[in-house]
Amino acid sequence: MSKFTIAIHGGAGTILKEDMTADLEMAYTEALKVALEAGYGVLEEEGSAVNAVKAALVILEDNVLFNAGRGAVFTKKGVQEMDAAIMDGKTLDAGSVAGVRNVRNPIELATEVMRNSNHVFLSGKGANDFAIKQGVKLEPDEYFFSQFRYDQWKAIRDSDNYSLDHTHQRLEELMKDKKFGTVGAVACDQKGNIAAATSTGGMTNKKYGRIGDSPLIGCGTYANNKTCGISCTGHGEMFIRVVAAYDVSCLMEYKGLSLQEAMDIVVHEKLVTIKGEGGMIGVDANGNAALVFNSAGMYRAMKSSDGGNLVALYK
Ligand code: ASP
Repeated sequence: MSKFTIAIHGGAGTILKEDMTADLEMAYTEALKVALEAGYGVLEEEGSAVNAVKAALVILEDNVLFNAGRGAVFTKKGVQEMDAAIMDGKTLDAGSVAGVRNVRNPIELATEVMRNSNHVFLSGKGANDFAIKQGVKLEPDEYFFSQFRYDQWKAIRDSDNYSLDHTHQRLEELMKDKKFGTVGAVACDQKGNIAAATSTGGMTNKKYGRIGDSPLIGCGTYANNKTCGISCTGHGEMFIRVVAAYDVSCLMEYKGLSLQEAMDIVVHEKLVTIKGEGGMIGVDANGNAALVFNSAGMYRAMKSSDGGNLVALYK
């Protein structure tokens, strides 16, 4: 039995203690703990890394605090369009969906794509048709309604601005005050198998079918037993441009860097060079975890069979 570990995130950005109420801080901390324990429980019972990351994500998607599943942000048209991906590092099997609507748990649908289709990436109406065929749970629009997300959207819906989760300034201004509420998980199970998963509502007021890094294999999500499992959160366009998750894997595979060293280069050098704000979580096949971000904070947690345990919000 090798060391087993799970790490999760609930988004990165301008997460500052002074902006937080005690109640909200507790709510985020509790939500992270519940999701972490759900995933860790799977690993403890000799479950697979894939099932562990999925179990953690379902809980985060069901929590309105995070920009994924139930708490997904509003698009320009006033609906929710969600993206998700999952990858199995043992087989390099992967499943992704983009722009899906009314799917309660987009990560379930991505897993169906991985396990029960001949494809890797489905989008829009076709992905929704596949959800119906596979019996993936759907919810009416009201399920995805929350007043605070609606208010965020209302503030910018008549403009061409789009914003990252809780923000509603022009793009230049939102560089100062942004939070990314995407959720993700990475795990290494008792057999040393790795998996990664990410789920998001993307950006408030997004249009033209905009898709970020989260469902793109190699950008926001990647897993390979030879190297690592990675889930990203942040300004998706920049993570796509640096092919962030796969770059960590490449630095480990081709340069022999450790997980921490590789993640530090991508987050603190490559992303910073193009003003890409955010972070990522990672595990390697020895059960080591790293949680790295270049923003003020990142909702994050990890637990390992060697006693490692962390739940944190700020830097
Ligand atoms: N990376 C996500 C996107 O650009 C946003 C986030 O991390 O919250 O769609």
